[in-house]
Amino acid sequence: MKLLEERILKDGLVKSGNVLKVDSFLNHQMDIALFQEMGKEWKRLFADVPVDRILTIEASGIGIAAVAAQYFNVPVVFAKKTQSINLDGSVYSTKIQSFTHQRVYDVIVSRKYLSPGDNVLIIDDFLANGCAVEGLLEIVETAGAKLSGVGIAIEKGFQDGGKRLRERGIKLESLAIIDSMDAESGSICFRNQ
Ligand code: 5GP
Repeated sequence: MKLLEERILKDGLVKSGNVLKVDSFLNHQMDIALFQEMGKEWKRLFADVPVDRILTIEASGIGIAAVAAQYFNVPVVFAKKTQSINLDGSVYSTKIQSFTHQRVYDVIVSRKYLSPGDNVLIIDDFLANGCAVEGLLEIVETAGAKLSGVGIAIEKGFQDGGKRLRERGIKLESLAIIDSMDAESGSICFRNQ
């Protein structure tokens, strides 16, 4: 998506450790006009699949998922990161290794908000090694829900999360795919989609 790529080139900062900072429009301050264009693009890309719930993970996924949900007319459920898992069976849970914080989170979704047969679209801000999305996929599977696809704002194509999801036959739509980036020069190269 040209608009997102241009914004990444203008305002994205490449940090060491393969981290792209996009705090000025996505991860801290949020550009809602841009989010709306992203939401419309996901709606176009997922027009041929049923979607009756969007699933994301706190915190950064919530803003983009909430704006996108307006175009799908469906509720958003976000997986919560938690310290203590409630073992009374009221939640689906999994563990997710955080790329940016280098730690493992327990993540939960209440059974009330995800049911067998639901058609779920997963949306998240970044796809790197794929741990966040794979954790959400596990929750979808445990719930007996159906995966309609995965929508990502920025995929770092040089990490292998995207490759693994595509190999599984999952419909993955990333609005911008970065093939390489360099912290020293600040250069960012996108994949031609
Ligand atoms: P993964 O689980 O695919 O390795 O990483 C995805 C998660 O880590 C995303 O939810 C995102 O919050 C965070 N993340 C991964 N790489 C980056 C990055 O380069 N920049 C930012 N801002 N977040 C990232």
